[in-house]
Amino acid sequence: MSPPLDDDGRLFRTLFETASDGMLVTDDHGLVLFANAACERLLGYDPGGLVGLPVEALVPDRFQGHAAHRRRYAAEARPRAMGAGIALVARHHDGHDVPVDIALTPLERAGRPVVLAAIRDMRGSPYAGDTLRVQATALRSAANGVVITDRQGVITWVNPAACAITGYSAEDLVGQHTRILKSGEHAPEFYRELWRTVARGETWSGTIVNRRKDGSTYDEEQSIAPVVDESGALTHFIAIKQDVTERRRTEAALARAQADLAARVAEIEALNKILRDQAIRDPLTGLFNRRYFDESIARDLAAAARAGEPVALLAVDVDHFKLVNDSYGHPLGDRLLQALAGVLGARVRSSDLACRFGGEEFVVVLTGATLPVALRRAEAIRRECAALRLDAGTGTPVRATVSVGVAVARGPDEPVEVTLARADEALYAAKRAGRDRVVAAPA
Ligand code: GH3
Ligand code: MG
Ligand code: MG
Repeated sequence: MSPPLDDDGRLFRTLFETASDGMLVTDDHGLVLFANAACERLLGYDPGGLVGLPVEALVPDRFQGHAAHRRRYAAEARPRAMGAGIALVARHHDGHDVPVDIALTPLERAGRPVVLAAIRDMRGSPYAGDTLRVQATALRSAANGVVITDRQGVITWVNPAACAITGYSAEDLVGQHTRILKSGEHAPEFYRELWRTVARGETWSGTIVNRRKDGSTYDEEQSIAPVVDESGALTHFIAIKQDVTERRRTEAALARAQADLAARVAEIEALNKILRDQAIRDPLTGLFNRRYFDESIARDLAAAARAGEPVALLAVDVDHFKLVNDSYGHPLGDRLLQALAGVLGARVRSSDLACRFGGEEFVVVLTGATLPVALRRAEAIRRECAALRLDAGTGTPVRATVSVGVAVARGPDEPVEVTLARADEALYAAKRAGRDRVVAAPA
């Protein structure tokens, strides 16, 4: 006997009874406690005919896992809305399928868990009844290739996109093992791992190089999902495919373009370096030019001097160079200048610097060199220049000597121009003294 109902109780009872969706309340053993009139009509039962029945009586026989599903649901029951996208069917009293959508709500009754199932009649809906036909249509018109195989990998169904990708017709493919698409570009282990994954019931995804009917290969992104029946046994595999050859080609082209660009940038940087070099180097000898000395070296030298490092300047001038030009011609004069510059360049260390100041005058900067050291090194340069012999094609080799003036900066307060002028004076002293010699400027 139900207790007498107050007004609200009557209202809710009426709501339940007259709801347009079927309403079913089951207890924790899955037995029907209440069912409304809509539910009875929908499933073909007499009034009160559902009460006490196990809910599995309302599920088609082929869904044998339902009781297990229900127990799992009961263990962590949460509301499940209608329209979850799952096509459901209920079993009519006379045994035929009724397409439905079901919302579940866990409730409590007298301290025990119960479940309210709201069951919506989906017979009028476009997805009802012929769900399979609708889904097959969706698969057929999918942009991705779809290939269904049995569990041995023999193709049972393909959609037109799969045919377009592979170049095979559906007749070509159905009945063939998927290895018909093998390109031979993967090691056997690749396929073994793929099959191991899907045989475990997991979805495999990755990129496979496959071969089309015409023999060409293509890159295919694939997801291969196993299909299991109600008892959990593997029955089919569904492969969703996408030809990514074009995308890969685009990526490769992009990578090539980037490499090209990097090469261009490197080229431009190399050109820039050449330009920078051209701005600071003398084209005939490759030594630094006067501009570089003025703009950069002077500043560096001042800093060295401030740091207490001695800095020596050597002013070098070729002796009687006019004679060389007059006797052998300007081009040979140039070659001699290059040879002498080679001596200077070879004699300087990384912290030193050799500049062509103009004409046949050079300045060598020796950082860290005291006067005795600078004199020794100037003497070595002089000697090596005097030992040079240049073949002028006349039988007699051309030779030249240089005069060198040496000045060591007097300290951080002495401007570089002053040190340079002192080196020049020493150079002229060397000229006056007969040339081919080294003279130190007075300290
Ligand atoms: P001195 O021993 O007094 O230095 O005599 P010199 O003949 O070397 O006299 P000076 O230094 O005044 O002469 C420089 C000459 O160098 C004048 C010019 O013809 C020549 N000269 C200057 N630049 C170049 C060049 O780039 N190439 C060649 N071949 N000759 C040059
Ligand atoms: Mg000279
Ligand atoms: Mg000169």
